[in-house]
Amino acid sequence: MPEQRIFNFSAGPAVLPEEVLREAQQALWNLDGTGIGVLEHSHRGGAFERVVEETEAACRRLASIPDDYAVLFLSGGASTQFFTLPANLLPDGATADYVVTGTWSEKAVAEAKRYGRVHEAASTAATNHDRIPRPAEIRWSERPVYAHFTSNNTIFGTQWTTEPTPPAGVWLACDASSDVFSRPLDVTRYGVLYAGAQKNIGPAGVTLVVIRRDLAERAVRDLPTMLRYATHLKEGSLYNTPPSFGIFVMGRVFAWIERLGGLAAMERRNREKAGVLYDALAELGFYCPHAGEGSRSLMNVTFTTPSPELDARFVKEAEAAGFSGLKGHRSVGGVRASIYNAFPKAGCEALASFMRDFAAKHG
Ligand code: PMP
Repeated sequence: MPEQRIFNFSAGPAVLPEEVLREAQQALWNLDGTGIGVLEHSHRGGAFERVVEETEAACRRLASIPDDYAVLFLSGGASTQFFTLPANLLPDGATADYVVTGTWSEKAVAEAKRYGRVHEAASTAATNHDRIPRPAEIRWSERPVYAHFTSNNTIFGTQWTTEPTPPAGVWLACDASSDVFSRPLDVTRYGVLYAGAQKNIGPAGVTLVVIRRDLAERAVRDLPTMLRYATHLKEGSLYNTPPSFGIFVMGRVFAWIERLGGLAAMERRNREKAGVLYDALAELGFYCPHAGEGSRSLMNVTFTTPSPELDARFVKEAEAAGFSGLKGHRSVGGVRASIYNAFPKAGCEALASFMRDFAAKHG
């Protein structure tokens, strides 16, 4: 078995901090000296209750989440939130506004249409989602219940620099799956923010939902118990057996972010890392970035080489050089380097150097 770990550019599940993996190894065997591993603890016992409390407390500290917001640890991924959100909060016949900036926004729209009306306030589909719409392009409807956006578009490699501004009194709903806690966040602008953990904050299987308490209590229709935000709010995410290992690891990732200096420090690191790759793209001219200037993601760097053949060759040679997970999604092609919170800067530097060599060889 190779002891050596390689640079993993996977779009998710993705690389986790090495310190956290070591802590998880230890906790698998024996959680906090209880003589029982984290996978084996009852979710009703004190040891696991402490895990949930600590994870929630660290989450609240990191993003200064006020008391009138609930922090929920759910399952089903962000895809389950695509329908849970409108099922709970979009009344029949009412309208929600969605800004469509990629495949995941499109999926969110399709699910919301099952429950109410959807107004597409803007869409970047015409240019294969290569940018974030300018404020002037966004046409909100008269009185939407909420305004939904995808803060980072994993497939296309675009990211909002700041939240869109919805009409007065309208709360934001956000799928933050691929950039959650990669930078500071003003939760009070949001009604609901959700994210699968498996890119920036933990393993697959747990979904973070930050929701204003009054909204969580509101359910606009009769829903199965498990689908109601109110159920999970009332039971502190312990109505049924939660994704306990995921919650544990998420808590350790939050603690790791705190040790590094919190979300502002995370943003600085992420800017530096992405800068290494975008600088190489700009300097070399050989590659073509998919995302337009001003819309470029700090999390997923997407680009093509001069031909599909060279794209395939790039990915293959990169793989042989010890870089995993670089193949672009089929809707963009080319290369995608996913460099979430835990991805090390050394990996970006190594890839930039590989890019230089590849361009020199094939340019
Ligand atoms: N939204 C975004 C922005 C994503 O990147 C993904 C997964 N790649 C999803 C939603 C779907 O998440 P899940 O697999 O957790 O349902």
